[in-house]
Amino acid sequence: MDVASMSKIWGSYDDARDFLRSKNILRCEIPRCSTCGREMTEINRSKKGGTNIWRCPSHKEIHITIKHGSFLEGVKLTLQTFIKLLYFWSHKIPVTTCADMAGIHERTACVWYGYFRDICSKQIIETPTKLGGSGVIVEIRASLIAKRQDRKTGTISEKWVFAGIDTLSKIGFLRHIPDIKAETLFPIIKKMILPGSIIYSDAEIFYEKISDIPVSPPYIHKTVNNSESCVDSVSDVNTKTVEDMWTICKRRLQTMCGTSLSTLSSHLDEFMWRQQYGHSGSDSFNNMLLHISQCYKIN
Ligand SMILES: [Zn+2]
Repeated sequence: MDVASMSKIWGSYDDARDFLRSKNILRCEIPRCSTCGREMTEINRSKKGGTNIWRCPSHKEIHITIKHGSFLEGVKLTLQTFIKLLYFWSHKIPVTTCADMAGIHERTACVWYGYFRDICSKQIIETPTKLGGSGVIVEIRASLIAKRQDRKTGTISEKWVFAGIDTLSKIGFLRHIPDIKAETLFPIIKKMILPGSIIYSDAEIFYEKISDIPVSPPYIHKTVNNSESCVDSVSDVNTKTVEDMWTICKRRLQTMCGTSLSTLSSHLDEFMWRQQYGHSGSDSFNNMLLHISQCYKIN
């Protein structure tokens, strides 16, 4: 949906409410009074800047807001601003710009972007996509993103991102990991990559025993710059696709969250979510509404 169409929706409380009802973000059915069972009546509070409520005609003290039970329950944000935020997030508008355009505090926009990422994480965890398959090439790589030494103990801690991409579907995974030991990497490979896949990696020692991971049929492992492990005498093994994905992801992380490590995992989830559900801003917008409605079933 273009901005002109969207601005009509977020231009009025009633249009925003009707839109969110049509997307199952807000309850469509009229709720009934918990005491007498009568259908409740919607009372307009939007003119005073509030949220409409459902109230029992017989028991005026019994009422719930129209946000009750939804993703928006208990939040101060108006329905119109929520739609704006989601639209801007869907179109990858940076937080600062989004806050400016929506007329809210930057901190609020940041928190809401975090909520949307939580939905991405939930979707990615609950419906994982396995990569590869018999004869399909999956490229993997691990990238060091931070290295710190504890001043007191001298202990060095590292942060890595482990990435893989199916070169056929172009769907990938990205995981924030503490180290690159085989016991860290191999369970992820086994979980994310289908048996029989051809795995391309660089020649780092920690990948050495990938072919020994117990799956049937086994993985075929080929490394860059290692002709012995390649069938072809002239190797065409490379990890360009996964490197490109990581470059795009890094650029995106810098735009959206700088170098914050505390939110890194959720940003990686968002990146993966967009690969699958957000090819365009409209796809992101519609699929995020869909996934929110699936997380918070209200009808
Ligand atoms: Zn009642």
